[in-house]
Amino acid sequence: MIKLNVAEIKKRLVGKTDFHFQVAAKELDLSDDDLRVSGLIQVDGEISNAGDVLLLQAHMRTNIVRACGRCLKEFAADAEADVLEKFFPADADNAEADAFTYDSDVVDITEALREGLLVAEPLQALCDPDCRGLCPVCGKDRNLADCGCDAATVDPRMAVLQKLLKS
Ligand SMILES: [Zn+2]
Ligand SMILES: [Zn+2]
Repeated sequence: MIKLNVAEIKKRLVGKTDFHFQVAAKELDLSDDDLRVSGLIQVDGEISNAGDVLLLQAHMRTNIVRACGRCLKEFAADAEADVLEKFFPADADNAEADAFTYDSDVVDITEALREGLLVAEPLQALCDPDCRGLCPVCGKDRNLADCGCDAATVDPRMAVLQKLLKS
């Protein structure tokens, strides 16, 4: 649970406070099923009083282990994520749907940071932009060796297309 004390910044408009800390993934309620974070997550940011809301801005840096979408190999890579969220007073009637709220001088930013990291995850991770993936015929990793299979024959739609092109 990551909490910020905002008692001081709530006293004046544009009041803000910055923060810098490192947390483990489990402190953000992230399990290995969500995201395989290796090491700590560096969090730098600030929370400011924007009048009717508190504005959280944060930048996170860490290292994440992912499986390549083409060759399935696991690899670790640096990851970064930005968070920009509003926090409404719990009794505010203008709060947006699903908005984050706070109801005292302490703001819990755990969920905002957690979501920020998850949203920044690419839909398909690649170990290398040029990863050649697994051979659809024999299943071998084509980055390691050229298996020599004629992969073009595997997909019947491609075969039809090739026939059309040849004729
Ligand atoms: Zn790969
Ligand atoms: Zn092959």
